[in-house]
Amino acid sequence: MPTKLSQIGEFGFIDLIRKQMGSSGKRVRGIGDDTAVVPSLKNKKLLLTTDMFLEGVHFSRRTPAKAIGHKAMAANLSDIAAMGGVPKYALVAMGVSGSLKWKYLRQIYEGMNKTAKEFGVEILGGDTVQSNKIIINVSLIGEAQRHELLTRCGAKKGDQIFVTGRLGRSLQSGWHLRFKPRIEESRYLVKKFKPTSMIDISDGLAADLGHILKESKVGAVIYEDKIPRRGQASLKNALYDGEDFELIFTLSHEDAKRIKRQKKY
Ligand SMILES: [Mg+2]
Repeated sequence: MPTKLSQIGEFGFIDLIRKQMGSSGKRVRGIGDDTAVVPSLKNKKLLLTTDMFLEGVHFSRRTPAKAIGHKAMAANLSDIAAMGGVPKYALVAMGVSGSLKWKYLRQIYEGMNKTAKEFGVEILGGDTVQSNKIIINVSLIGEAQRHELLTRCGAKKGDQIFVTGRLGRSLQSGWHLRFKPRIEESRYLVKKFKPTSMIDISDGLAADLGHILKESKVGAVIYEDKIPRRGQASLKNALYDGEDFELIFTLSHEDAKRIKRQKKY
């Protein structure tokens, strides 16, 4: 077995942690979905998710500060959307250096706050630590009606695969900094249809559809000419680029026929 993290890879690492941590049996979904799911008030589930953004890895000092803040919040919102949930509360932890300009930091918070407000999220608190590089960690709590909860593991043989928007070249086009998390689309889907599985695209159509297939224990055929692509995006871009933050979802044959008749489609 490989011993270095670089050989194990991100998904291998998540699998190992998942095995090591085990389960208390209380959670509905633990590691291995877009958010964790735990029981809440009657017929409701709590959704918990967290995402970390590091200077030098996810953004640089040249990235507009408001866009950094937006992305940190929006990426978490995208995971709540992927579960069919409604976002509620956030906690924000930041690592910043004393030499950082207050104006820059304020703009990061402004970007974060604006997006939080837009989606009805209240930032309840957080933490700050001293760090040479900027670190932003947003944790988001959402809620889903038990019957509206969508996971990666319900796709069935004969289902059809859909995405909420165009894919590929997110980084080159700047989409990854200004994308709108698909909360509204997700709510529409859970109210009007019965998606059998859903995930948001952070690592690319191939990898993220792969997660649905693995968790649902099914296979899939995708048609090259049916993949909606952004502008100049090639097939390779659409399959592997990632950070599209669109939703992939699966529908039964009947629901697929129905959604294709909708104006929105
Ligand atoms: Mg996700």
